[in-house]
Amino acid sequence: MYKILIVEDNDFFAKLMSHTIYKRFSFKVDIASSAKEARQKLSEHSYDLLVVDLILPDSEGEFIEEVCTDHKVVVTTSFEDDLTRKKITALDIVDYVIKSDSADFSYLLNVIHRLRMNERMSVLVVEDSLSIRNHIVSLLELQGLGVITANDGQEALDIIKEKPGEIDLVLTDYNMPNMDGLEFLKHLRKEYAIDELPAIILSAVGNESIIARFLKAGANDYILKPFSREEFFCRINLSLNNLEMLREAKESASTDHLTGLYNRYYMESRLEEITREKNETNALAIIDIDHFKEINDNYGHHTGDLALKFFAVQLLNHFDINNIIRIGGEEFLIVFPNMNTKKAVLKLEMLRQDVQEASFSDVNGRTMSLRFSAGVAETLKGGCEAVIRMADSYLYQAKENGRNRIEFEGSQT
Ligand code: GH3
Ligand code: MG
Ligand code: MG
Ligand code: MG
Repeated sequence: MYKILIVEDNDFFAKLMSHTIYKRFSFKVDIASSAKEARQKLSEHSYDLLVVDLILPDSEGEFIEEVCTDHKVVVTTSFEDDLTRKKITALDIVDYVIKSDSADFSYLLNVIHRLRMNERMSVLVVEDSLSIRNHIVSLLELQGLGVITANDGQEALDIIKEKPGEIDLVLTDYNMPNMDGLEFLKHLRKEYAIDELPAIILSAVGNESIIARFLKAGANDYILKPFSREEFFCRINLSLNNLEMLREAKESASTDHLTGLYNRYYMESRLEEITREKNETNALAIIDIDHFKEINDNYGHHTGDLALKFFAVQLLNHFDINNIIRIGGEEFLIVFPNMNTKKAVLKLEMLRQDVQEASFSDVNGRTMSLRFSAGVAETLKGGCEAVIRMADSYLYQAKENGRNRIEFEGSQT
């Protein structure tokens, strides 16, 4: 459980902040009203994040210096002058937040959200200078990001190839031996679109035409060295926030909102994925609920929807979510990676037993159970499209032969 300690002497502010954080994230939040009390709390509990007021009754920033090497710290202050800003940003803190009279904590909430999300994200830093690389790594780690490093463009490409999908953001220098940043970016963009794997250039070259070339080659941003910590953090966070929004939009477009399962927009990419896995064979099944229309006709659409949700849970009890697709209505595609028809049929048979034994009740307390028919085929018999057509024809046979059954090549013999 994520735990936050707020160190703030203004009682009203502390409580409001604590309440706002709790309301948004349900994190456990403790409050200390002085450095002394905070030290006491830190000796008794461990915290994932400290939100510390710059000016406390018994400390004017010394407490922050004291704790920021061992803890993630966000500083809050009501001073907006340059001197205070300079003083704060020189510390090893995650960020600082200006407290305003309107008590608007949205920026603080963003910082906390980012920190939590960053724990699951990795940045690839491509930089030939060891000292700069170490500096960038320490800044990124301060933001809770996982970091992988490469010396030059070629090494970076090798790493990305080895760890597909594990890197969320690339930061690259321009001038490097073997392969420079621009060459690297051009290679990167052949494989990954600008909205799939963002790349930020960090370079001391402020030449307009170079910057334009990078942006046209698919850079998401260009940060001029030397950069301030604050600008660096803001730009990194901006890119990561954008990436997250895009991912959410994609996820939502490929998700069926009734059942939470993937929909047919996801099907193509999933089938491509398993084709790339180079398995000996993959089986596919098409499942269709029997006489589903009767549920709608007899009990109404709402109960029909409930039945679909209930059926989705049954599918999830048996198969990995990545292998279940609601292709439409009451039809589902199940992918069996690296499995032949025989094994897939055994698994489906277990599902069939469970489904016919289980029952659910609608809002009016009417209890009912479902049956389904399925057709199975495997990819040794052709490309995915042909196999889906074949599975579909076996499904048709299953319906013809009385429903509540699974048909496949050889099931009739
Ligand atoms: P069969 O055993 O031959 O498959 O018969 P069936 O009644 O299951 O098949 P049919 O294709 O005739 O009817 C499917 C019905 O599913 C028709 C459609 O209105 C309903 N349906 C499709 N999507 C939804 C949905 O999201 N919610 C509800 N409640 N009904 C849906
Ligand atoms: Mg360099
Ligand atoms: Mg049906
Ligand atoms: Mg149908």
